[in-house]
Amino acid sequence: MKTKILVIEDNEQNMYLMKFILEQNGYEVIQAWNGEEGLDWARNAAPALILLDIQIPVMDGYEVAEKLKGNPETSSIPVVAVTSYAMVGDRERVMAAGCSGYLEKPIDPDTFVSDVEMHLPVQSSDLGGSE
Ligand code: MN
Repeated sequence: MKTKILVIEDNEQNMYLMKFILEQNGYEVIQAWNGEEGLDWARNAAPALILLDIQIPVMDGYEVAEKLKGNPETSSIPVVAVTSYAMVGDRERVMAAGCSGYLEKPIDPDTFVSDVEMHLPVQSSDLGGSE
């Protein structure tokens, strides 16, 4: 089974790039285009990790992170914020909302997967073959 990663992102180009890179590296990508859709997929698809854009419609990424962390069904899924905000205090705000990491946009295709994998829990199935 492929490891599932939920990407919550409203920008088509960013979504396309993240999905492309992750799929090239053997991950299954679930796409959500707004916060509410993201929460639904987080509960229903049991992803191994969530990549969360902060500027998204319906509810922003901070609120999504807080709801994910406040629900026992999803609280153990690592959440990595992906945002173009590069302001002082932003990382603190993201971490306070319960995210385990922070990636800045534009993402760097050369380091993206290793940055994501730093936050991915090690699974016993990773030690076997690819399927
Ligand atoms: Mn956005």
